[in-house]
Amino acid sequence: MVGPLSQKLFAKAKTVIPGGVNSPVRAFKNVDGDPFFVRRAAGSRITDVDDKTYIDYVGTWGPAILGHAPITITQTIHEVAKDGVSFGTPCPWEIQMAQKIVDWVPSVEKVRMTNSGTEATMSAIRLARGFTGRDKIIKFDGCYHGHVDHLLVAAGSGALTHGEPDSAGVPKDFSNQTIVLPYNDFEAIQTVFDSIGDEIAAIILEPFPANAGFVFPREGYLQFLRDITTKHGTVLIFDEVMTGFRLAKGGVQELVGITPDLTCMGKVIGGGLPVGAFGGRSDIMDCVAPIGPVYQAGTLSGNPLALAAGLAQLQALEDADGYTQLENKGAQLEAGIKGLLKDHGLDFTFHRAGSMFCLFFTDKEMWNVSDVNGADMDAFKRFFWALLDDGVYLGPSPYETNFISLAHSAGDIDDTLDAMSKAFKKI
Ligand code: PMP
Repeated sequence: MVGPLSQKLFAKAKTVIPGGVNSPVRAFKNVDGDPFFVRRAAGSRITDVDDKTYIDYVGTWGPAILGHAPITITQTIHEVAKDGVSFGTPCPWEIQMAQKIVDWVPSVEKVRMTNSGTEATMSAIRLARGFTGRDKIIKFDGCYHGHVDHLLVAAGSGALTHGEPDSAGVPKDFSNQTIVLPYNDFEAIQTVFDSIGDEIAAIILEPFPANAGFVFPREGYLQFLRDITTKHGTVLIFDEVMTGFRLAKGGVQELVGITPDLTCMGKVIGGGLPVGAFGGRSDIMDCVAPIGPVYQAGTLSGNPLALAAGLAQLQALEDADGYTQLENKGAQLEAGIKGLLKDHGLDFTFHRAGSMFCLFFTDKEMWNVSDVNGADMDAFKRFFWALLDDGVYLGPSPYETNFISLAHSAGDIDDTLDAMSKAFKKI
């Protein structure tokens, strides 16, 4: 249970904000409790209004890869803000960020900035439709791509957590254009392409789905998607809003060596400020206004503060050999958790790539959301609250993936493992 001041604030918030929160998963509804309200965050720690401090594995849902409020980002924001916080005209930061993304992400030749991951996926879908002249898209059950009408069909993350993977308010005519298939099922894709392959504008996917647990593609699956989309002139869109700049400089596409046509980005590249981006092949990106017929825009897109903060974050990652360090921290946590599971006689499935991880409360293999749904959700809740009481904050839903930052020290990870050992006893 969270402290009295958080409870009081939540009660007040609910009177003026729907559900008391500005994004559903923050409400802790899935874990049957009230959320804590944050006073401040620094490094690996987040402190609530009742002055309780937690080791944080949510990291503002991914952006805080250096940890919270790193000096390099806060100083950059202060400096850049002195010259203005928004211009609405081109500024040099935009070129620097675009160049950085083009340099780091294998498939990106040109890129357009947005203010959120949602805008990035919405724009990428529109662009794929404009480029191909086709309407239908394929997405995967449990993959979350933001709250875009066409993509709120069998969605993951908060939509799944709150039992609304198909949102109300999306016209049937929209959702009818979205074909939903199980992730990792070769045959399902083959069947659709055999019958209407030439009507499909795009396949959009999280290449490592991380919004319905954290699962990996089967051997050859991403290559299969690449081949079948190439054959049918369908645009392959990797949504790397979560995995991009997180698992490697170039995201999953760098790790697996598969090149999508378009990539959606966000989170880490904003350093904690609102940001998103979509980019890819020049011939497709050149269909975007003002040189092409696909309209896409934003008053605050390319905001100097967000881009400067993001560039500072990417620079710090590069300077610190960040991805190697994150892998080492992830390996320490994985070894520890696997050791604890063994000690407690539990054979739960644990998935990790670099600094992203998810523990499933079942011994079954996890290949898609149907598998994830089979895990023991009540055990997750008990584990979550036991950890929170002990000062460790994991994502408040069994469908969320957790994040390690560069600020998590070996000591933090040891403390986390101690808390987990006690929590395993309680469940
Ligand atoms: N795509 C993925 C893979 C995401 O994880 C998210 C958000 N968690 C989004 C898109 C939407 O991004 P935003 O919340 O910034 O709109």
